[in-house]
Amino acid sequence: MRDYLRHVKTQKWLKSWYNYANRTYFGKKLPKNTPIRWAVLDELDLGWQMGDEIVISTALQAWPAIAQIIVLHEMVHLKCGGSHGKRFQKEMLRLAKAGAMKDLW
Ligand SMILES: [Zn+2]
Repeated sequence: MRDYLRHVKTQKWLKSWYNYANRTYFGKKLPKNTPIRWAVLDELDLGWQMGDEIVISTALQAWPAIAQIIVLHEMVHLKCGGSHGKRFQKEMLRLAKAGAMKDLW
């Protein structure tokens, strides 16, 4: 666990979680080569997905579990599009039931 948390600030840590979640909870249906990185965002933004890219706020480096949940949130945007409508909500519930948020919430 300590080793896992030691690398939180790296892009590799984000990419590892993305790859794991894609494999485990999305049946590898999301693109393998999605660019995912930390960035300084406006204080109310935790992360965003635009085009094929996912960006996570560096503010969440202090809260790795929340960062992981936000990555999942942005992955659902990749799959379902930009809105938080019915399809998005259904997909988030599917992830929760599949155990994707276990130990994160
Ligand atoms: Zn969103």
